[in-house]
Amino acid sequence: MICPYCGSVDESVPTPEKGPYQGMKELGDCTACGRTVVSAGVQRGWESSKLSTVQKGQANEADYADVYVERERGASHEDRGQTADIDRTVFDGDGNLLYYWEFKQRSCSINGYKYTKFPYRKIEEARDLVRDAPVRITLKFLDCWAELELASVEDCDVEQGGDFKPMSRGESANQQSAKIDVETLRVLPWRDGCDDLSV
Ligand SMILES: [Zn+2]
Repeated sequence: MICPYCGSVDESVPTPEKGPYQGMKELGDCTACGRTVVSAGVQRGWESSKLSTVQKGQANEADYADVYVERERGASHEDRGQTADIDRTVFDGDGNLLYYWEFKQRSCSINGYKYTKFPYRKIEEARDLVRDAPVRITLKFLDCWAELELASVEDCDVEQGGDFKPMSRGESANQQSAKIDVETLRVLPWRDGCDDLSV
């Protein structure tokens, strides 16, 4: 399991392939920070705590980008357009390119599924973009934000995980997926809009 509070990985406790749907299961206490870690599969209709700066129910990708850039690094961000697979470009205060950013929101805990998937074409686009700047693929789970940073072409050698079955509208079917072990993600050290889950 991977701790949503400190990011420490405990290999003695396996991350479930698929956590409970509409419920939660306790995995154990983190050996590094002592917090209790739970696995929660997709939670329908979850009323997550919202970002403090965002009105309940109105948060969109640009709002999350505001929070991310302020917390992590950068001065401004820009939408790369509807046809782009990686959503945004982030700049410093002088307008210099810092990194590219892709955001996905998940309605499960980070330990909800051993592997997290997204369309493989995002990795293919990242392979071109990393020549200019790193690509960060950031996932907001119910209990933490975590990310995959692709800083080189070699980093883009990501495993394919079979057909991607989109859960949300607007994603076309029959595409290959990228398959990422959640234990390899970097858990971000801030928790805006996240919940402390308990069974
Ligand atoms: Zn911990």
